[in-house]
Amino acid sequence: MIHPILSRPRRRRYIGNSSTGEAHDLRREAKNCRINAIIEAGDAVAFYPDSLKEAHADGYGDCSWCVRSADRKAPQVRGAF
Ligand SMILES: [Zn+2]
Repeated sequence: MIHPILSRPRRRRYIGNSSTGEAHDLRREAKNCRINAIIEAGDAVAFYPDSLKEAHADGYGDCSWCVRSADRKAPQVRGAF
C-alpha cells in the first residue's frame, strides 16, 4: 500500500511520485530525480512495506536515474539457461 508523505523520510529507502508513477531509491538518489521538488509538489508517497517489490505491486515503475542505473551497474544475466 502507499501513503502520502509531506517531508523527506529519514528511515525509508523508496519513495514514489504519484504524478509520474515512478519509484525512487533514496540510497542512490540522483540530481535528476528531483526528490525535493516531488515532496514540495505534494506528489510524494511512501510504500508499505518499504520495498521495490511493493512499489511495483502498487503500479509504480522504476526511475531511470536511480533504480535502473543501479541495475546497469550490477547486470543480471537473464535467459542464461
Ligand atoms: Zn530516481
